[in-house]
Amino acid sequence: MAFTLSGDDACRTTFPTPIPDPYWVAFSPSASQLIHLELDASGLPVDSSWLEVLAGNQLKTSSHEFSNPIATAYSGHQFGVWAGQLGDGRAILLGEIAGQELQLKGAGKTQYSRMGDGRAVLRSSIREFLCSEAMHALGIPTSRALSVVGSDMPVRRETIETAAVCARLAPSFLRVGHFEHYAASQNQVRVKELADLLIQEHYPDCLSSKDPYLELFKQICIRNAELVAQWQAVGFCHGVLNSDNISAIGITLDYGPFGFLDEFQIDHICNHSDQAGRYAYHRQPQIMHWNMACLASTFIPLLENQYSEEKAQDILRDALEIFPKSYASTWQSLFRRKLGFAIDHENDIKLVERLLQAMHDSRVDFTTLFRKLSDIKKTDCVDAIALRDEFIDRVSIDQWLSDYLLRLQMELDDDATRKIKMDGVNPKFILRNHLAQEAINKAQQHDYAEIKTLLNILSRPFDDQPQHEKYAIAPPKDLQKVDVSCSS
Ligand code: AMP
Ligand code: MG
Ligand code: MG
Repeated sequence: MAFTLSGDDACRTTFPTPIPDPYWVAFSPSASQLIHLELDASGLPVDSSWLEVLAGNQLKTSSHEFSNPIATAYSGHQFGVWAGQLGDGRAILLGEIAGQELQLKGAGKTQYSRMGDGRAVLRSSIREFLCSEAMHALGIPTSRALSVVGSDMPVRRETIETAAVCARLAPSFLRVGHFEHYAASQNQVRVKELADLLIQEHYPDCLSSKDPYLELFKQICIRNAELVAQWQAVGFCHGVLNSDNISAIGITLDYGPFGFLDEFQIDHICNHSDQAGRYAYHRQPQIMHWNMACLASTFIPLLENQYSEEKAQDILRDALEIFPKSYASTWQSLFRRKLGFAIDHENDIKLVERLLQAMHDSRVDFTTLFRKLSDIKKTDCVDAIALRDEFIDRVSIDQWLSDYLLRLQMELDDDATRKIKMDGVNPKFILRNHLAQEAINKAQQHDYAEIKTLLNILSRPFDDQPQHEKYAIAPPKDLQKVDVSCSS
């Protein structure tokens, strides 16, 4: 059941506003399987009324009717500051199919649009589409992207662009911001309803706990901690980790000025509006923890049936400690696998950290470097290992490589087995900004072939795809700085 609260100012029936002459820009056959759409030979829905539905132009296909589309308000902290009500001014939930909420982003104004036009531009919709599907293929929890439908309708941003609607799927689009919204207006009844709905549909194990709400809070922390650890392991920077963009079910939400690391810089900032670097790569775990503290404050009343307010606060403060613990253990296990360590050794994490430091010092490309590690053989000599050439400080990388070789000799797997395992966790293909930008440039000329090519490549990120080698290499220096901001 989708999140619908009747008679609520923050949850209203909202009809999409049609766009003129819609056309397909992108479609994900893989995401469409989630809702069992029948596709034709070109990979588009057989039932052509889906184009109109996913454009926001009608509410009925031959098999589905979306009779009560809704928009929901949420509040939150932006860049660490309470911003009050701020969303959702441009997402409309059509309904639910096969356990997936179907949401249109950019389908026109809602009651919560404030000064906004309720639209999304083609550029940002393509970025969201490609990244959602790429993240899914990387095995990282995320909202999915079903389609992008375009229109030549002009939309004003820094320049005049054109409109697009991105259809997204997720088991739930509930956010920390929804809790904050009701908590801010002291609507404890709604906070409890949201918590109950989450438990019922997404965290049923909590019901067997003696304190289901506390358990729910911990489970949300764990899922989001594991999520950020997964981001770090593939070099994904979200860009806007405001509390309203944080999922209550631990999925990646709201792809805006995100970026995958090209060359490794621990404090890389992907969003050029984030001057202070609040959401830099190395701060993501700490910021997600901070967002969980925002969520904790909304849970205080839920615990007050059993405890005093003061006691409830103490309990939640203690519960927050599960975040760094679960982040650290997931991060360590992911990076140990990236280095090919199947057995445990006490110095492993030191070795990971020394490698990251050397990569940072020499600004080595994150993705290609980890991918190349699996070519190293236990019996190699340091001098013969090609990847040492990528480091400026040869002394420290040689020392690291010699320690790494010694460490690999402790492994029971042979080189070939270890390589298979490592290549299954170190992607060859990620959505680098310059690749997305090239697809966008072509789409702005009504050529959508590059989006399809990227979608296909990124849906198999761990496979060598020799015909697509150019999509795997680090961008030339002048293409590393594709400017991405919050404008979308
Ligand atoms: P974001 O920083 O992209 O997560 O945006 C925060 C909120 O701003 C979203 O939840 C939207 O509700 C709102 N918003 C962004 N762009 C628009 C727009 N063009 N029209 C209306 N609301 C918008
Ligand atoms: Mg639901
Ligand atoms: Mg958002």
